[in-house]
Amino acid sequence: MKPDRNQALETLAVHAGRGPDPATGSVAPALYPATTFERDADTGTSRGYAYQRDGHPNGAALEAAVARLEGGDWGVSFASGSAATLALFHAASRRGEIVATADAYRGTLRQFAELVPEWGTRVTLVDTTELRAVEEAVSGDTALLFAESPSNPLLEISDLRALADIARARGAVFACDNTFATPVLQNPLALGAHMVVHSATKYLGGHSDLLGGVVAGAGLDEWHADVRGYAIGAGATLAPFNAWLLLRSLPTLPVRVRTQSAAAAELARRLSGHPAVAEVHYPGLPDQPGHRLATRQMQGYGAMIAFRHADGGAAAKALPARTRLFTHATSLGGVESLIEHRASSEGPDSTAPAELIRISVGLEHVEDLWDDLARALEA
Ligand code: PLP
Repeated sequence: MKPDRNQALETLAVHAGRGPDPATGSVAPALYPATTFERDADTGTSRGYAYQRDGHPNGAALEAAVARLEGGDWGVSFASGSAATLALFHAASRRGEIVATADAYRGTLRQFAELVPEWGTRVTLVDTTELRAVEEAVSGDTALLFAESPSNPLLEISDLRALADIARARGAVFACDNTFATPVLQNPLALGAHMVVHSATKYLGGHSDLLGGVVAGAGLDEWHADVRGYAIGAGATLAPFNAWLLLRSLPTLPVRVRTQSAAAAELARRLSGHPAVAEVHYPGLPDQPGHRLATRQMQGYGAMIAFRHADGGAAAKALPARTRLFTHATSLGGVESLIEHRASSEGPDSTAPAELIRISVGLEHVEDLWDDLARALEA
């Protein structure tokens, strides 16, 4: 079945990229682990595939689905979110400089510090919540303006429409890491972004059992070709089984993300009134700097919360070992709730505040999650 553009997100999540297998009628998508595909008699590839790294049926189905969910017309899948961001930055490096969010996923910041400069590309990190600073940083030499919103780990909100306008006015391209929001809560392309990038490892996969990444966009054929070329050339393409798992996960994405976000909103509210908590970072709280903007550009505030322990770094570091339901582990977006001391997860070069705890709210009942957190905070 081919869903049309007017269908709702829930419908697209179930049907985009999927449909009964034409050969067997199987309702669940078939898994094609083949590394190589039979050629036509005249050496052509009329059935669309030649070699797995260049493209395979499960990857193509996933790419079509994510592109539709994001409102784009192409997607390129990767072995991880990090491979996806690096491909995007490589495409940018062929065209000019990069200006990017300073509060971003640690691995992305490491790419800017260690890998991207090896291509001779200048990267300027800027607080993308400050539009004036962005205007000053983006110049005619900028090829890519890159934002993460909500950001990791401080859940800061950047004005995506304004960033897209700034990039366009200078002839640059604007891309947003939409991992924390997912297309359920935020559609950067509809707000003017040219491309979105995902760590599909998180909510798109949703079960903490795969690594994956996607870049999706609309138009921009040359960027699309470069991003795909990097995936193929670097051997960074997604494995068929992971693409199959992701396609299995997408139909439940809206239900999962909305349920997780509703629980997170309640936990954030309760945490902000707890005496052991000095500050909560959650865009759904009315006193947050990004709240009004998040309300305008998002359809919910997400299921990630960061908070600062009132008793400082040592107390924050000890907290994750005291929860019973929240698993003491990094990452996010799965059905099970996770808790971590962010600076410890990021390592010695972390810039995360020492007292910062980050939680990923899963699908457990909110009262059980609160009991667990409250007990750990009081211990
Ligand atoms: N972008 C964000 C916002 C992330 O949180 C992460 C990982 O945590 C990545 C990108 C990188 O994704 P991956 O771990 O799949 O390489």
